[in-house]
Amino acid sequence: MSSSRSVDPMDLVRRAREGGYAVGGFNMHNPETTQALLLAAERADAPVFMQIGRAVIPHMGIDDAFEMTKKEVDRSDAVAAVHLDHGTLDEVHRAFELGFDSIMFDGSHLPFQQNVEATRDVVKEAHRLGIPVEAELGSIPDAAEDIRWEDHYTKVEEAETFVKETGVDLLAISAGVMHGVTASAPLPLAIDRIRQIRDVVGVPLVLHGASGVPTDDVRQAILAGVHKLNADTDLRHAFRAGIERMWAQGDRQLEAAMAEGRRLMIDATIGKMREFGCDGRAGAGEKTAAGS
Ligand SMILES: [Zn+2]
Repeated sequence: MSSSRSVDPMDLVRRAREGGYAVGGFNMHNPETTQALLLAAERADAPVFMQIGRAVIPHMGIDDAFEMTKKEVDRSDAVAAVHLDHGTLDEVHRAFELGFDSIMFDGSHLPFQQNVEATRDVVKEAHRLGIPVEAELGSIPDAAEDIRWEDHYTKVEEAETFVKETGVDLLAISAGVMHGVTASAPLPLAIDRIRQIRDVVGVPLVLHGASGVPTDDVRQAILAGVHKLNADTDLRHAFRAGIERMWAQGDRQLEAAMAEGRRLMIDATIGKMREFGCDGRAGAGEKTAAGS
């Protein structure tokens, strides 16, 4: 199994911090969505985190999802890191064996001290292998009616302690976004909270659930210290719109519908990359230079 590494994921994020933008983390779900993300990255000349996450792993298994993604990444010219999103302990260990470029360990459901200890162990092992770790603190709710945000926001003091004691490279925080898209208008992000956390942790911050967040909020979040932004829902909707458009014309081959989904998802992904400011930042030829 190939574990050749062509991209340093932390280098992508460090350059984003220096350049005042954010790198996109987007989820793959099948070959067509994987291709859509990579084609978007090529066309926008944007670095990208190719994320293997909570939806696809139960569907096809982490091994197949990784192999498929890796194969597409290897034949693409995009500057792309293969990243495990919301990994469990078992998935994280498998990801190490498979040769993921970076991982997120999600211990956010654990009590604080247990999250610290579990994350610290993961970081120790990951760093031995040269793999950066993203972890999450605070909880990112799934789209639902009644959310008491103060219960979900990442706490500043906890963030400081957490990063110090675990040594994580990237911290995903909760500051008013959620997984999925709400029926109502999105709340403004807690920009002050993001800034306060940035000032005490010293590592780049990550926000999940950037779909449906107004562009102005995205810009402010980047200025406040967020340099990796995950979005999934908007891209999934674009893919779906392509399928629906094709099937609205009558019976069509699945391939024709998925090709149209891929086409619309490429455009939606390029839109996100522009919004995050990472378009034009991949740097032509860097992958070849780093990989060979
Ligand atoms: Zn997430």
